[in-house]
Amino acid sequence: MHGWAGQRLRVYLTEGKIVKEAVSEELGLRYLGGRGLNSRVLLEEMPPHANPLGPDSVLAVATGTLSGTFAPASARWTVSAKSPITMGFGDGNGGGDFAAGLKFAGYDQVIFYGQSPKPVYLLIDGDHVALKDATHLWGKTLSETRDLLVKDLGGQEISYLAIGPAGENLSLVTKVFCNTRAGGKGGMGAVAGAKKLKAIVVCGTTRPVKVARPADFYNAVKRAHRKVSASPFFKMMREGGSLNWMRISANNGCMPARNMQAGYFEGWQKLTAEVYEKHYAVKPLTCFACPIRCSSYFRVKEGSYATFGSNQQYGTIYPFTVRLGIDNMEFALKATTVCDELGLDTHLCGAVISFAMEAWQRGLLSLEDTDGLDLSWGNIEAVMKLLPKVAYREGFGAVLADGSKKASEQIPGSEVCLVQVKGMDVSHMYPGPGEGRDWQLAYSTATRGPDHLRGSGGYGKDNPRLVKILGEAGAKALLDPQNYKGQGVNIALSNYFAGIVHSLGLCTRVTGVYGAKNNLLDEYDLAELFSTATGIDASGDDLMKAGERICNVERLFNVREGFGRKDDMPPERFFVEGISPGRAVPGPTGINRARYEEMLDEYYAFNGWDSDGVPTKKKLAELGLDCFDWQAGPASRATDYTKQS
Ligand code: SF4
Repeated sequence: MHGWAGQRLRVYLTEGKIVKEAVSEELGLRYLGGRGLNSRVLLEEMPPHANPLGPDSVLAVATGTLSGTFAPASARWTVSAKSPITMGFGDGNGGGDFAAGLKFAGYDQVIFYGQSPKPVYLLIDGDHVALKDATHLWGKTLSETRDLLVKDLGGQEISYLAIGPAGENLSLVTKVFCNTRAGGKGGMGAVAGAKKLKAIVVCGTTRPVKVARPADFYNAVKRAHRKVSASPFFKMMREGGSLNWMRISANNGCMPARNMQAGYFEGWQKLTAEVYEKHYAVKPLTCFACPIRCSSYFRVKEGSYATFGSNQQYGTIYPFTVRLGIDNMEFALKATTVCDELGLDTHLCGAVISFAMEAWQRGLLSLEDTDGLDLSWGNIEAVMKLLPKVAYREGFGAVLADGSKKASEQIPGSEVCLVQVKGMDVSHMYPGPGEGRDWQLAYSTATRGPDHLRGSGGYGKDNPRLVKILGEAGAKALLDPQNYKGQGVNIALSNYFAGIVHSLGLCTRVTGVYGAKNNLLDEYDLAELFSTATGIDASGDDLMKAGERICNVERLFNVREGFGRKDDMPPERFFVEGISPGRAVPGPTGINRARYEEMLDEYYAFNGWDSDGVPTKKKLAELGLDCFDWQAGPASRATDYTKQS
């Protein structure tokens, strides 16, 4: 096979058994790789209504079709499982070097079943694949785990994914980590912890990825690099990375200030990319094959928050500042490094603490409830003490470790403080004056719960496909943040496109997920990369169809778990309309309920779903998804893989 490694592993943790299996080209063409391959596995192999932290839970990790090649930013791995927070479809992707490492070892995907009786890690050394005792790693932080693994393996270079103490202790606000790159919002770290799976480690033998048409692929990559590096987005990402969103969010009045009670935080100027670059950045850091290098190592030299870490992002700084009423960048960098050691998800950790702070503000919590911690906005010391409590499920931390929705069940009256969709906190994007209402539709309909990477920001507004459907004027109208019409089409196409990007293993920062106005890669560029790498001629249309298929598979997973239209609604507080000064874009805030419902109808209709958001039989037939019983899960399968070797 070209592009794909052509093999995957099924790992039966209860039995301690590992099965190697070929990945068919047909499956690759329909689901591409990464997210797509995992999504199909979850729908087909996860029993309906299974406990995500129980023995029937399935956890899948996959590389993208282009992982391990030098296609720009082809560094992303995807981890997928039923989310213990939403109780629906869950996944996430991260960068670093693991995706390339797994592909070089000769595998596209690893699927874990059952639960190990003792802590283990999966060692992949080319053809030698084994489950190893991880008792000595259990309880260790992420950096301790890495050091011990390197020592265990004789000092050789490793690529790995691992969980920290938070995942081991089944704190649900956890992710899976590749050094300080993390993926799997929605509790993927806890799913691994429940399986007693500490890490997946790749070392030793490497098999270079073969591409079908090397000269054509080289030219396609060269063109892609040129396009990306000419984009204004490229320059912005190199100087402060996604922390630039601090300024953009302030300008648009869409900051998640104090648990999203407002869209503007007065202390944002102390938290900008410029402040970070001037005082804390040490040297650039990039993921495998990425020309952008959007992050860096950082150092806080002295004081209470002295620390050294890496990978600053808007998503690591705003949760410990804007969200909590804190304007101290040094504290946020320290909190980030603590989360990276304990295996906590910065987005959800900041969100659940801000939920508790709002409950405190409303007099719904007292010192007796919080282990004596004063949860007033801006209380840095209380936040510092809460982080390990959340990771180890100690005291009040055990209440917060299950996320805001479940915590609200233990704090009478606190439902009013929830800012969530599908049971998961909305991380960014208060519906402020300058932020498009398409973001709210994207957040509310994303299959894995509120998410900024499934199509937020919309499909490229000048993409020919969108212009053909909506017309020049209709596509142009989407640029008005208060416009609702056409956004259903925009977000549906954006979902399909994100499905391609995640499945090829690319980072959204080289593609048009954030809007083609940045002149990043579109589906036509991706088709060229895909075709020359795999040797299978696919057009932009073919890839969009695969992206649509992937989105429908995830939607079916959620429908099977009982999700419908009621789960595609923004948080109640977003429906309160008002006026905010923002900073540079004064104007209306909030979402108009009737117009949101119309936007949702348009989205469902374009997707070929009924009025409750269930894919119709006609749509399933069109996508070739009528060939198996999706309601049945593994009951529809004839093969018992545990009997193979
Ligand atoms: S843009 Fe940033 S996160 Fe994305 S692959 Fe490049 S370095 Fe990694």
